[in-house]
Amino acid sequence: MVVFITGASAGFGRAIAKRFAQEGHRIIALARRKERLESLQKEIKECFIIPCDICNREGLEYHLSSLPKDYQNIDILVNNAGLALGLESADKCDFADWVQMIEVNIKALTSITHLILPQMVKRRSGHIITLGSIAGTYPYPGGNVYGASKAFVRQFVLNLRADLAGTCVRVTDIEPGLASDSEFSLVRFKGDMQKVESLYKDSNALKPEDIAEAIYWVTTLPKHININTLELMPTSQSFAALNVWRENYPQ
Ligand code: NAP
Repeated sequence: MVVFITGASAGFGRAIAKRFAQEGHRIIALARRKERLESLQKEIKECFIIPCDICNREGLEYHLSSLPKDYQNIDILVNNAGLALGLESADKCDFADWVQMIEVNIKALTSITHLILPQMVKRRSGHIITLGSIAGTYPYPGGNVYGASKAFVRQFVLNLRADLAGTCVRVTDIEPGLASDSEFSLVRFKGDMQKVESLYKDSNALKPEDIAEAIYWVTTLPKHININTLELMPTSQSFAALNVWRENYPQ
């Protein structure tokens, strides 16, 4: 199979690339950092790299139209590239951070899906995987636009399922909870390693390899089974009570 993975230079994307490569599949790896993609390419046998900003639609069109013959029929698209920026309350956020999350998590994800989906429908075969998040279902303080972008992803997947009835193309939203060993929190906390370490300390969080395994599982199930959404958390993560703020409101 040919597996196209966005955000393959780090974290989940890199682990997903390695998991599929281990089974002999061909990988198309997209991310901005070329040297990281080249190091992945050295590790796995059949890997075509696309060093490109996923927000650049013209760039995507160019790279897709110049794929080598063996990589042109994409069997699995893993929409993994994404980010959270900041954990401040909405009134204190940087608007540029909101825009960037919307550009990558929503606009770029729909752009690449729009470019690749027609060939899958034409071949009556294919699987689109998206990386949503538990943040798309459960709100938390500071989740604001990140959580909303992942709620978009979840609903986009469910609506794709409706449109793709009868096409044999499968769609799945993978929705992880707390996961360590990627650059996600380093990006979110803008390089503040102390915050990253205290978030993950003793948490026994999910690992990129766990996410890769879940994706490998949903894509290798018999073709008549479609997992719509798959929510996974570390066993250590659970739910808290709803917050009630108690005070006398000003009249
Ligand atoms: P990560 O280690 O930070 O990886 C993010 C990847 O996205 C990198 O390869 C990065 O590559 C790529 N990327 C970001 N902006 C891009 C752009 N404009 N163009 C091309 N590539 C871009 O994060 P991760 O933890 O693996 O997260 C992967 C996905 O899982 C994200 O969608 C995230 O929201 C979701 N998720 C993560 C967690 C978690 O706790 N880690 C939980 C739930 C869901 P370059 O910087 O090289 O471009």
